[in-house]
Amino acid sequence: MSIPCPRCQSPFTPGATSCPGCGSSLLLEAVPGSTEPTCAVHPTLRGLATCERCGAFACAGCLRSGVSGEAVCEACAAREPNLPMPWDEREELGTLKAFWKTCVTVLLRPETFSRARSEGSASSSLLFVLLCSLPPFFVTGLTYLGMFILMPAMFPLPQKEGQPEVPFALMGMGMFVASILLGPVMLVAMTVINAGIDHLVLRMGNVTRGFQVTLRAHALSQAPWVLGVVPFIGAQVAPFWALVARVFAYRGLHRTTWGVAVAGALLGPALFCFLCGGSYMALILFAASQLGGN
Ligand SMILES: [Zn+2]
Ligand SMILES: [Zn+2]
Ligand SMILES: [Zn+2]
Repeated sequence: MSIPCPRCQSPFTPGATSCPGCGSSLLLEAVPGSTEPTCAVHPTLRGLATCERCGAFACAGCLRSGVSGEAVCEACAAREPNLPMPWDEREELGTLKAFWKTCVTVLLRPETFSRARSEGSASSSLLFVLLCSLPPFFVTGLTYLGMFILMPAMFPLPQKEGQPEVPFALMGMGMFVASILLGPVMLVAMTVINAGIDHLVLRMGNVTRGFQVTLRAHALSQAPWVLGVVPFIGAQVAPFWALVARVFAYRGLHRTTWGVAVAGALLGPALFCFLCGGSYMALILFAASQLGGN
């Protein structure tokens, strides 16, 4: 829901205090004696819109985005559900139980995000990503380990005289350790980068809440990665399930519309695929033109 700026009529999102169109402050002094509505809390300021919950006039400083992006006053926004996710109750539940309950919630009841608390520290969000990444990378590591130990046993290389034996088991162990150590670190780094890109898109959609909210939504929506423990299928399903969960998370935690949430979750990855796909196509075309030329 956007409200027109009284100066230039550009729409602004509840929560903004300056106009994105003309840049002027939206905290306008009420003209004494005029018939213009004034804020129910601040009688010296102009009321720019009515709260869709209680009907009171609210100034720009009092307007907030409600659960579905509607304009509400500060008092009504404060009464909105602000439930902690199980992950926020680690002290009471214990880290593992809080993690598991959050995964079940995100996977099966993603609409919970629209009633959930928006704020969460960056470190708590990244710790969640780290835990999500352990099961799939553990399974990947085990697969490498199995491959390096089983393959040489099943298909022995012809052993040449005087040549040192290839240390397959040791290489397998190395791949295993690299997978469970480097994999999660990479995923955490990717989370920060991707959340940053998504946040830029969300800001273009007039989202007013900070980067920490985007990071929290991005992190919690990675819960489907725990499906990576299911061999072969889990890792294929997880990215798509995580994208769906992310749309719910962005909509819920940023209190924005479905349109902005879908754009925030999908535009970044879509652009990435487009660029990668584009460079692959260019390479193929280049190779084809070289072959054709000869
Ligand atoms: Zn304006
Ligand atoms: Zn209200
Ligand atoms: Zn006010």
